[in-house]
Amino acid sequence: MSGGSEVQDQTEELEQQTQEPLREPAPTAPPEEFTIESVMAIVAHPDDAEFSSAGTLAKFAREGKRVYIVVCTAGNKGTPDPDMQGEDLAALREREQLGASAELGITETIFLRNPDGELYPTLEFRKQLVEQIRRHRPDVVITHDPWRPYALHPDHRAVGITVADAVYPTARDAIYFHDHYEAGLMPWKVGEIWFYGAEKPDHYVDISETFPLKIAALKQHDSQVGRSTELEARMRERAVEVGKEGNLPMAEAFKIVKLRR
Ligand SMILES: [Zn+2]
Repeated sequence: MSGGSEVQDQTEELEQQTQEPLREPAPTAPPEEFTIESVMAIVAHPDDAEFSSAGTLAKFAREGKRVYIVVCTAGNKGTPDPDMQGEDLAALREREQLGASAELGITETIFLRNPDGELYPTLEFRKQLVEQIRRHRPDVVITHDPWRPYALHPDHRAVGITVADAVYPTARDAIYFHDHYEAGLMPWKVGEIWFYGAEKPDHYVDISETFPLKIAALKQHDSQVGRSTELEARMRERAVEVGKEGNLPMAEAFKIVKLRR
């Protein structure tokens, strides 16, 4: 009888489903031990770290981790005012960045002062980043996703690509930029790169508690967004939207690439 056999089939299927885990237990190897003691955000311009990941950076800082921000350009073209002098703007933006870093509890902010809008993934630029990685030894490096399709600031693309190349294999292998080794800067293996602005993020950080710090930090960037009356509402809306994807009240999102073995 078809009805009877269907019930029997379903029962067998159920038995198979319930027995399967017993016959083939899930791999029991524990997840690899990976502790984060130090985090480095490497960004193109002053304010990029705040827009993308300030909530996450503040959270790491609150947890007692060492947190660094490396700003690759001087941000000297970041103004709609054609009469503004680039040098004055660069000095102003460094002060703003230091104010923002203070709000977030950043351990140290490093300015590489390359010309705004002129970054390329050169060996010279990679060497600057490798030096910072070897000096501060971050377990996680946070940066721009350079593979985000179509619309991307060329500096963001250059930073993301150069960070990826600096982390693996360059900072890890002493043979690269051997003068670092001779000067006492040892090779360093970064455990993970967290790319922000990714098309398909796979990691969401709950920033509901550090969101006010993110806003306070962004407001320090007076020449950029500090006076915007819509800033907080806009950022809140975005954080809630990203949070929904990760089942969190408010979030920042990343695509993680694991390099540890
Ligand atoms: Zn930028």
